[in-house]
Amino acid sequence: MPDAIRTEIAALSAYHVQDARGMIKLDAMENPFDFPPSLQDGLTARLRAAALNRYPDAQAVDLKHAIRRAMDVPPDLDLILGNGSDEIIQMIAMAVAKPSATLLSIEPAFVMFKMIATFCGMQYVGVPLTPDFQIDLGATQAAIAKHRPAVTFIAYPNNPTGNLFDRNALRAIIKASDGLVVIDEAYFAFSSQSFLHEVAEHANVVLMRTVSKLGMAGLRLGMLIGRKQWLDEFDKLRLPYNINALTQAAATFALEHIDIFTAQAGVLIAERQSMVLALDALFAKYPGARQFVSEANFILIRLPTGTAKAVFEKLLAQNILVKNTGTGHPLLRDTLRITIGAPSENRAFLDALTKAMT
Ligand SMILES: *Cc1c(COP(=O)(O)O)cnc(C)c1O
Repeated sequence: MPDAIRTEIAALSAYHVQDARGMIKLDAMENPFDFPPSLQDGLTARLRAAALNRYPDAQAVDLKHAIRRAMDVPPDLDLILGNGSDEIIQMIAMAVAKPSATLLSIEPAFVMFKMIATFCGMQYVGVPLTPDFQIDLGATQAAIAKHRPAVTFIAYPNNPTGNLFDRNALRAIIKASDGLVVIDEAYFAFSSQSFLHEVAEHANVVLMRTVSKLGMAGLRLGMLIGRKQWLDEFDKLRLPYNINALTQAAATFALEHIDIFTAQAGVLIAERQSMVLALDALFAKYPGARQFVSEANFILIRLPTGTAKAVFEKLLAQNILVKNTGTGHPLLRDTLRITIGAPSENRAFLDALTKAMT
């Protein structure tokens, strides 16, 4: 590799996206439904009206207004937008990456937290969850005291485990931190709990969301909600025009019809419940197989010891792509992460899994 490349970058592998052509795609927490048919003509009209010869609205005024209404953002909080929440994670990390500053998270967590810490030259500390994926509060508080993280990222619900953490454990982490705590609510549409209406109570909390899991992963739009004193600083790092004109037009329109997307999420929540029952019935026959409680649009399952890779490959052979999480963190051994798809996809997955396990 070229000599000029930083050693920690040279040591990385690029984020790998598996080719899924022709497959039932249950690996990336996408919403399986088409853009709502009742909205397609309206969308076309908005896109046609977008001025592609001009730079987009740098402040995305209409879009921010639509987000505030659709998500009930408290009026005393500010809002900034990113090209996916990935870009927001990067903006936050760049802003706090003083020499030897630490980014802390729990583990297993969303892999971009660690990757972006590395991109920005930050130290990364991952505090292991308990074996049933709860926050180990003692260990986390000790890590905060030791490393004094500039920023702590926690997804709520967590990816790849799907669960919500104990709210009081999160509050204790916020209290123990001098640095910023970012609550990542990428899965808010599928969850019974949120911190949105608690952000304003804490001086050091901001909250991140995205439309990706809601049915618009292709638009690349994430948002950060929090106090002006934090968001004004992050906004300085935002590249001008980071939200393109077509995304602004499409997302503004879609969020004016948030009910339709919320209804799709409702279908997926019901599908998740059916999946839980079906997995329980199947796993009763296989000692060592289990699932973990999820408030997201996916379920993490554990297969009998040593069988996850073979099951993953047997699913692939039946044209079903899930995520083999078992190769990642030690706490994830023997696990697969299954995105909840459309009803027919979930049935196909359950049939294929039943065959793969026998
Ligand atoms: C999927 C996911 C994101 C990514 O969001 P984008 O807006 O698509 O960049 C962020 N955080 C978590 C925890 C996720 O699972």
